[in-house]
Amino acid sequence: MRPPILFPLFAETRTLAGIGPKLQKLIARVAGTKLVDLVFQLPTGVVDRSYRPSLADAETGRIATVLLNVLDHLPSRIRSQPYRVRCSDETATIELVFFHGDADYLNRSLPPRSRRLVSGRIERYGGRLQMPHPDYIVAPDEASQLPLHEPVYPLTEGLPAKSMAKAVRGALDKLPRLDDWLDTSLRKSRGWPDFFDAMQAAHAPSHQGDLDANTPARQRLAYDELLANQLALLMIRTNMRTGKGRSVKSAGELRARALSTLPFQLTDAQRGAIAEIDADMGSEARMLRLLQGDVGSGKTIVAFLALLTSIEAGAQGALMAPTEILARQHFATLTPLALAAGIRMALLTGRERGPLREETLSALASGEINLLVGTHALFSEDVTFKDLALAVIDEQHRFGVHQRMQLQGKGQVRADVLVMTATPIPRTLALTAYGDMDVSRLIGRPPGRKPVETRVLPAERLEEVIDHLRRAIARGARAYWVCPLVEESEKIDLAAAEERAALLKRELGEKIGLVHGRMKGPERDQVMARFKSGELSVLVATTVIEVGVDVPEATIMVVEHAERFGLAQLHQLRGRVGRGTGRSSCLLIYHPPLGETARARLKIMRETDDGFVIAEEDLRLRGAGELLGQRQSGLPAFRLADLAVHGDLLPVARQDAELALSRDPELKSPRGEALRVLLYLFGRDEAVRYLRTG
Ligand code: ADP
Ligand code: MG
Repeated sequence: MRPPILFPLFAETRTLAGIGPKLQKLIARVAGTKLVDLVFQLPTGVVDRSYRPSLADAETGRIATVLLNVLDHLPSRIRSQPYRVRCSDETATIELVFFHGDADYLNRSLPPRSRRLVSGRIERYGGRLQMPHPDYIVAPDEASQLPLHEPVYPLTEGLPAKSMAKAVRGALDKLPRLDDWLDTSLRKSRGWPDFFDAMQAAHAPSHQGDLDANTPARQRLAYDELLANQLALLMIRTNMRTGKGRSVKSAGELRARALSTLPFQLTDAQRGAIAEIDADMGSEARMLRLLQGDVGSGKTIVAFLALLTSIEAGAQGALMAPTEILARQHFATLTPLALAAGIRMALLTGRERGPLREETLSALASGEINLLVGTHALFSEDVTFKDLALAVIDEQHRFGVHQRMQLQGKGQVRADVLVMTATPIPRTLALTAYGDMDVSRLIGRPPGRKPVETRVLPAERLEEVIDHLRRAIARGARAYWVCPLVEESEKIDLAAAEERAALLKRELGEKIGLVHGRMKGPERDQVMARFKSGELSVLVATTVIEVGVDVPEATIMVVEHAERFGLAQLHQLRGRVGRGTGRSSCLLIYHPPLGETARARLKIMRETDDGFVIAEEDLRLRGAGELLGQRQSGLPAFRLADLAVHGDLLPVARQDAELALSRDPELKSPRGEALRVLLYLFGRDEAVRYLRTG
């Protein structure tokens, strides 16, 4: 249960004075629904009103605060004209300009012959000084109501800056002083303020430098968030492991049979990963291992060999893919291997229904099915294994801390867990998403792979690309042509892809297919199959192929609007070719002008095909939040930490969390109690539930 001291922060924003349903909705769009969301929404800018010039010296375009004598009012005679109020100081006159000005209101706030302190942007119109719609108008004795420095928050259409700032202020007023969860010596050595002061300071910038991610206040807050993240992952890990595993071993007979049919030898990297997995499975502790390797690095066979171990030991295995296409693809690739090993394998996705599904489910429950391949449907309510020993989760490019927890939530699942990811995430990020797991990495690619030749071309050279394609197709080549999803509207994107397919048909003949995300499964499979069989030479696609198909014969990848893709995405797309024995090429077409970041990205793509190098560069160029296509990646979204800047705090937080848990596994000491509050503060409630006494 959430500690009572945090209750005020978890109240809805509409409980604040002045916030009704309308504002609440708008605020929810930029920050969230709770006060804590407002508190965590740090300012992105600062308005400095401390500039106090005389009117004669006032710089045009700058925000200034000036003490004025109100001279007279010039109401508008026609609606299209503004209402003006003339004012002066000792040096010059200025007009305050109000479009649709309300005379009553203006007479009250700016009575003639009064003095007023006014703040707003200085402009000049035909040589005359003006200030349109001042931000503040106060009497001289109310000067304290005029903030000299104002934090600027992200807004959305319809949300006034003042309302947002006021809401954040209101939330900050509810911020309690909390016992510090930080190790005192760490805090002192870093010179960090406590949480309360850090938060207040972060919301009260007085100049641009205060917005820097490396101020002590912002560093401290970032560290708090990272500490909560690491602590939660470690607690999940401990819970996953303790007293729940089993030892699974085999003599390796099934493996030998499967391996004898492979036309290649395992690489050293693959052998190494298998040894690590065997050791985990053989131990009493539960395995929680991540198998990380680029697209095409040969993870699938490693996973399959591990599954055979559990099957030979008399238990069952499961392989879960993130999409239906991938599940089917895994099933197809593994079929000959399963036959060779003599095991029974079945497929289960949302599409398997009716009697067939019933039959699969009963054969699974009786243990006749040794290996079940499928989508997340594998772990739905009505699916019961007789004895599941190993679950392999192929995450491809998503991260599923969530899914892993769901899996563990399935009652007595004591199965070992092996997660495969094709995303070469930098070490820092790996720790945030997979801090609960051990990691095996498949570095390098299987032998015989030729590097993909990468070229970067402006869109005006499209014809050249089409010529290149024409010649290649004549030689029997197959190509992907990717049109990105970029517009707000999927319809427009689709139209662009359709138009491209039509153009290619005119230029290259009929062997052009189109797949997109709006197609129904069977329809899409059909087009894919025609491409795989060679009936189609070119597959025009929105990015669905990113998480899809394996067609070793495809040797050309064309990416349009390459400047709009992230590095990781480009890398994944390029990984779709260069899988067979032929020489492959990747043509990245961009639409000028290229921004600096886009230029750097394309340059990196030309220079390297090492996924880990690319991932590190991606992090450097974009920042973690944006990495890998934002939220859909499932990466933990940090609100106060920016891994591109605070990345080096992560290992510190990791160690800190390990030490704290080893000293006080139940979080019962005074610091432990404070750490619990930290977990709740950052919404890691699920982790606290894993404490035996939680
Ligand atoms: P990943 O799952 O990591 O994307 P795959 O397991 O699909 O990669 O492997 C890509 C291709 O490389 C497959 O066609 C696979 O048969 C092949 N492959 C795997 N291991 C080796 C190896 N040791 N030597 C040669 N080819 C291999
Ligand atoms: Mg084990």
